[in-house]
Amino acid sequence: MSGRRQDDCDVLVIGGGLTGLTCAVLLHEAGHSVIVVEAADRLGGRVHSLLDPVSGAYLADLGPTWVWPEAQPFAASWIKQLGLGLVPQFESGDTIVDIATQGSPARYQLPRMEGSYRVQGGTTAIVERLFERLPSSAIRTSTRVNSIGYDNGSIRVSTDNMALPVMRPRRVVVATPMRVAANTINWSPALDSSVLNAMETTPTWMAAQAKAVAMYSEPFWRTNGLSGRIASRLGPLVEAHDHSGEMGKPSGLFGFIGLPPKVRHDNAQALRNAIVKQLVRCFGTDAAEPDTLHVEDWAENPFICTPTDITEQPQHPQLTPSVLRKPFWDDRIFFAVAELATVSPGLIEGAFHIGTTVAKSVSETLLAQQADLER
Ligand SMILES: Cc1cc2nc3c(=O)[nH]c(=O)nc-3n(C[C@H](O)[C@H](O)[C@H](O)COP(=O)(O)OP(=O)(O)OC[C@H]3O[C@@H](n4cnc5c(N)ncnc54)[C@H](O)[C@@H]3O)c2cc1C
Repeated sequence: MSGRRQDDCDVLVIGGGLTGLTCAVLLHEAGHSVIVVEAADRLGGRVHSLLDPVSGAYLADLGPTWVWPEAQPFAASWIKQLGLGLVPQFESGDTIVDIATQGSPARYQLPRMEGSYRVQGGTTAIVERLFERLPSSAIRTSTRVNSIGYDNGSIRVSTDNMALPVMRPRRVVVATPMRVAANTINWSPALDSSVLNAMETTPTWMAAQAKAVAMYSEPFWRTNGLSGRIASRLGPLVEAHDHSGEMGKPSGLFGFIGLPPKVRHDNAQALRNAIVKQLVRCFGTDAAEPDTLHVEDWAENPFICTPTDITEQPQHPQLTPSVLRKPFWDDRIFFAVAELATVSPGLIEGAFHIGTTVAKSVSETLLAQQADLER
């Protein structure tokens, strides 16, 4: 719409993760003016990549890796629509079962991870393609929302970005983890206790996890008849997988670290040494000197993980209370984050699903309001 001030839009999307961007793209393409504010200095949220420090080329996924397109129609259709390809997770060869404290680790043929696919160019390619469908003026990174108020039919949103005045959007989509929105945004008037309680008891999937990526010049494990997969009771990686590109380049492995956040935080260098030691134990001395060893600790990201996510036991995503899927403050505020989806909550599939559903609901309320005004 012409003549708009930069603080004025139909829809303000708070959070530039997969859900927020999906929702923003659909609203923009439906003709609504949209602004996305993202607290971090990059888009993507839990979708994040390790890039080559020199060329900037994609090396590895630091957040999500897999989709299961045969069981996930939303992810399958969006990935196709965005022009991205899928490749099956590499798993030819034996798995290392890392349980013996003495001698060589055992090699087994474990059941295959049938149906697990990786996105060509990494899961951040999804974020890049969504971003391309939005006007660049619609995106504000390094902009954290700190308060949302509602008074007399009018929404007011303020951020920590001094260059951005108080915003007065017609609708707001809160596309942040629910606990982050409950703990770090000042709501005025206070949220209804049933809503607040539901937000605080909605865990954020994988928020307190950490992933390690080791890049090498060659996928030497493949030549030795190994799939790159590790199943370990000894750790620190409890499971690991081949994470190489097509034809084995770039060559890498990734694994999930099975230590609590505090132990990881307090022993960062010892942890890195222990990861390399484990990779040597499992794959031999070729693994001793990775070109890059990166540990991405999601528990240290305050825009994703809250103290509650750190202290409680991780739980598999479950259907969240329906109160979080209802707009409030006269249909001005909508929540949308992967955990709120009614299909595959917490996953990429859930992010596409809830982003699509909420965009439709927001658009309907805007069109209904417009029709009322014209009557
Ligand atoms: C290590 C790991 C592995 C995973 N593996 C898989 C997998 O293999 N397959 C799969 O399907 N899923 C996986 N997931 C889950 C997947 O990443 C999520 O489902 C998906 O990325 C969620 O997207 P989202 O946009 O809903 O939320 P998020 O990505 O959490 O986005 C929320 C955004 O809100 C921003 N934000 C927070 N507070 C504010 C504020 N006050 N103001 C402005 N912005 C704010 C955050 O910075 C963030 O960008 C994994 C996640 C992790 C961490």
